Amino acid sequence: MWDSLLNGKNYTCTFVNKNKKGELFYLNSLIIPVKVNGKISRFVDLSRDVTKEIRHLQTIENLSNIYATLSEINQLLVYEKKEEAIFNKITEILIKYAKFKIAYVALTDENNNFYIGASSFENPSHQVFLDFVSEQFNILKTQDNDKFNLDRFPFFKSVKNKRVYIINDANTKDLRPFNAEAAKIGMRSCCSIPIIKKNKSIGAIVALSDKANFFNKNIYELLKEITLDINYALDNIEAQRWRDIVMLAIDRNENLIGVMDRNFRLVYVNEAVEKITGFTKDEVIGKHHSIFSSKTHSKEFAINFYKTLTSGKIFSDVITYKTKDEKFFSALVSIVPFIENNQIQYYVSIAKDISKEKTLYEKINYLTNFDALTNLPKRQAFIDYIERFIKRAEIENKIGAIAIINPINFGNINKAYGFEFGNELLKKIAERLGKIVRQIDIVAKLDSDKFAVLLKDLSFEEDSLVLMVNIIKVLCDDYNINGTIVKLSFNAGVSLYPKDSKDPKVLLQKAEIAVSDAKEKGEGALGFYRQEVEDSAKEKLSLRYNITKALSNKEFLVYYQPYFDTKTKKIIGAECLLRWKKGDKIIPPLEFIPFLEETGLILNVEEWLKNEIAQSISLRKNKIPISINISPISFKQKRFIDEIASIINLYSIDPSLIVIEMLERTFIEDLPYYKVFLNSLKSYNIKLALDDFGTGYSSLSYLSELPFDYIKIDISFVRKMLFDSKAKSIVETIIYLSHNLGIKTIAEGIENKEQLDMLEKLGCDAMQGFLLSKPITKEEFDRLIGE
Ligand code: C2E
Ligand code: MG
Ligand code: MG
Repeated sequence: MWDSLLNGKNYTCTFVNKNKKGELFYLNSLIIPVKVNGKISRFVDLSRDVTKEIRHLQTIENLSNIYATLSEINQLLVYEKKEEAIFNKITEILIKYAKFKIAYVALTDENNNFYIGASSFENPSHQVFLDFVSEQFNILKTQDNDKFNLDRFPFFKSVKNKRVYIINDANTKDLRPFNAEAAKIGMRSCCSIPIIKKNKSIGAIVALSDKANFFNKNIYELLKEITLDINYALDNIEAQRWRDIVMLAIDRNENLIGVMDRNFRLVYVNEAVEKITGFTKDEVIGKHHSIFSSKTHSKEFAINFYKTLTSGKIFSDVITYKTKDEKFFSALVSIVPFIENNQIQYYVSIAKDISKEKTLYEKINYLTNFDALTNLPKRQAFIDYIERFIKRAEIENKIGAIAIINPINFGNINKAYGFEFGNELLKKIAERLGKIVRQIDIVAKLDSDKFAVLLKDLSFEEDSLVLMVNIIKVLCDDYNINGTIVKLSFNAGVSLYPKDSKDPKVLLQKAEIAVSDAKEKGEGALGFYRQEVEDSAKEKLSLRYNITKALSNKEFLVYYQPYFDTKTKKIIGAECLLRWKKGDKIIPPLEFIPFLEETGLILNVEEWLKNEIAQSISLRKNKIPISINISPISFKQKRFIDEIASIINLYSIDPSLIVIEMLERTFIEDLPYYKVFLNSLKSYNIKLALDDFGTGYSSLSYLSELPFDYIKIDISFVRKMLFDSKAKSIVETIIYLSHNLGIKTIAEGIENKEQLDMLEKLGCDAMQGFLLSKPITKEEFDRLIGE
């Protein structure tokens, strides 16, 4: 300045001065050197107060700087996702663009202590100021805050009130002790911008300028905007952070988590889905969720699944899924519909693989229900088996036996040979039992050495005796345990379903009683819960044995009783009647047929009889029809018709020569079934006769529905009709009605001429009885018909 002035040149400059109040004011000076006699004698100072203009210009510059700052900060907030980096860069921006000299971020920690989180300086030596601030924070920590009146400081006010504070003149006592320190390095104004995260102050950004009156209203507004932007960015970062944390929890979750769109196509699956199913994300995303379907669920299950979910409700159940390599696994699944704008957009599925639990459950279940040593069902499981059998047996009319089998003195074996040996022996017993019972039967182990058997689907009670005798016999065979031979004897007790009870537990109790009764009887005894059952079973067994022997010894014979045409008096057929020749004695059928029926042996006998008759028909030149009496039991056998058909085939006989006689009681219980049955028999051209008509239900109504060729009027009517007018009119009606239906009538048991005459008069078609011929042997019959 002086150089140019002394050289006589004008000097212009702006002076910054301070008034009394310490405020700055600006003077634009024009200093002119005034020369007198060629010598500078004085200077004229033409100064103008330009404080206002300068302030205005400064403000415009500051404002545009702050705009630039805001724009930089906003760019920063868009790309920077880390809080720490944001704070660092903001302080840099404040220095670079807003032209602050010092900028720092002070943050509060969880104990409400303050610390410097980031800082920038135009001049690195200003670090001293920041050190001072840090020091003060440490001191403040130990001060009584109320006394110290922290609210004096813009920084604390910002934090407390979540507002921007500005100080246009830092040199105020209010800011002690910071003002002196700021003054030292020429700082004149400052601002504090709160840092707000999730509606909570976590600190503030403090910026210091070396210019006084740096801030005006517009800048203040922009700083407020910066506050909001930072707040928004921090909230977003925080939200994103939480999303990342939650996503990690979902991705790494050991449960299978998936999201499906509203068409049940997969849009997301977590790592557990990949791990457990073996599919990669790429393989399943975009695919329908049925890619995991095991197809083991019912149609109803699927309907309920879709119905629940599409109606916006949560679906929870155990679902069996299929892995990529076609293995099944069970999962406890909960699927939640995600609704947006009143519409289901997604389904979120969380499934817990419970295969391990299921296997464990099955294992526990197995150990509770099955004996670990022998793998046989234990008591409760055995009771369940009985219960299931009873349910079915009730419908199918089957008999069952529950037997308890107890090795005698097993304790002694353990004592003598040790437990290991005893266990091996028990295993062997279990094995033998498993092999000897029929496929349908159940073997169980009730207690330490107590076995049980459920014998199912018995036709006759005594069958249980046969099976049990056999079981015990096999069990009593020698046992070889590692070269040591052991002999065992057993006691067994039997209770019968339905005779003894229909309750599984009661049946088991009764079998226990029976076995303890058997023990009293002595070693190797087999006892039934009811003595009479045992007795009759034994009796029936011996009869059965005899009858089987009779069949093989050819003790059964067929007698023939011819029947005659009423008009021509010629033989038009013969009824075969069974006889049992026991030694010299001929036993009539009524004495053994009921027993044959009860024991089912009638099937064997009639099978033999049918063959016998078919054979003799085929051998005769005289083709005379033969009537065979068939028991109701035989008709119940599904293979009856097939058997008849194959016999006709085998002996190449005319089927119309076979007349099957059946009793009313046979079909009265199930008329619809017999309608079909008899019609299919008729389709083979076999003749049908209704035997003993009048003794049973005597219902004439069904006659029109069933395809009978003959009705046999029972002997009782033939006997009564001579003196009983009612009986006579019944016979008359039977004959009249039969003729109407195209059925022929045969009268049974004609013993005298009067009966013969009356029947002839009433129009009966054929006659049978002792008057005409008694039942005769086959040889006699053949002779009679001229064979
Ligand atoms: P059913 O079929 O009504 O046979 C007629 C029965 O009356 C025969 O008795 C016969 O000997 C007897 N009888 C015939 N004429 C006279 C008579 O003039 N006076 C008297 N008092 N009786 C006469 P049987 O042979 O003792 O047979 C009795 C029943 O045994 C038969 O009655 C029939 O229901 C049944 N039966 C015979 N053989 C068989 C067979 O092979 N299978 C089946 N399921 N039942 C048979
Ligand atoms: Mg008969
Ligand atoms: Mg009869």
